[in-house]
Amino acid sequence: MRSTPASLPSPPSECGICGRAFEEGERMHNILVEREGGGWERKSFCAACAERGKGGGYLCRWTSEYAPRPKPRPLPAELAADLLGNLLGRPEWAGAANLFAWHLVRRRTLKHLSTFKREGVDYNLFEAKGTGRRFEVPFAEPGEEDRRRFFELLEMLEESER
Ligand SMILES: [Zn+2]
Repeated sequence: MRSTPASLPSPPSECGICGRAFEEGERMHNILVEREGGGWERKSFCAACAERGKGGGYLCRWTSEYAPRPKPRPLPAELAADLLGNLLGRPEWAGAANLFAWHLVRRRTLKHLSTFKREGVDYNLFEAKGTGRRFEVPFAEPGEEDRRRFFELLEMLEESER
């Protein structure tokens, strides 16, 4: 069902700062950051390093339990909304944002409300179930690269919990 190209990173098995190997069931602190040259990269830290670390510059953050082979789970609604909001902040991510928004509709995290046009651009309007937060997503035809990024995102996020 899910596209899983061989090049996709699996969850890190050790802390990205101190290098200690995670133990099964250990709480990992994860962030998603932009990778040089395009796409995104997941970084994971142990609790002690995450507490010392500060800063932003990430697209979203979440915690998960380390498991050598995590089971896919639906994305928490709040994380999905944060991430979509951040994707919409950059025009070059518009294609991936379109794929992600429709994925969230299929997962019943978002509801599609309407389609409208503003200044010659077509938009889809979505609403988050629960919070009622709305997202105006400019239509962008997703290309190959957008699809790759989108599946990369899902791969990195779907074992998350919060
Ligand atoms: Zn650490």
